[in-house]
Amino acid sequence: MPGPGQTLRYAVSACAVAGLKVTAPRRRLLELLAEPGVPQVVEPLIRKVADECGVHPVTMYRFVALLEEKGIVHRLMLRDHRAVVLACESLDYLICDRCGVVTRLLEPVGFREWQSVLTAETGYRLEHHWFEVSGICPGCQDAESSGQQLLNSNPCTTDHHAC
Ligand SMILES: [Zn+2]
Repeated sequence: MPGPGQTLRYAVSACAVAGLKVTAPRRRLLELLAEPGVPQVVEPLIRKVADECGVHPVTMYRFVALLEEKGIVHRLMLRDHRAVVLACESLDYLICDRCGVVTRLLEPVGFREWQSVLTAETGYRLEHHWFEVSGICPGCQDAESSGQQLLNSNPCTTDHHAC
């Protein structure tokens, strides 16, 4: 699995190969993509680069479109939002239904075996996969249980809406 430094190098050289000039704002966008190595929603990502580098968001949207066109990033949807991930990253991730945090999923247990079963059963030659698992992250579970405690410590047990 490539580290963030290697991933950034991949992204920058892929741009060079594709004939895309890597200006400072473009490099910043690639850095932000390479750092977590997981799919990211496009809009806040572009807003961040635009704010930090003082460029117009439209220029960055155009750059993202070029990255998609050249196959340097994959386009996908994260909870109904347009998102991208660098093409060298895996498309296996966990997403929290509550806060939307995205975590890289290490090779799922038994995944290779499952692929062979799939190949045997369907006759497909598998080329790509995209594995999204959703649930509630540990942080949200903690918030959930502390909220529960607060509710339990509430002396009024009849009607919470009236308190
Ligand atoms: Zn969460």
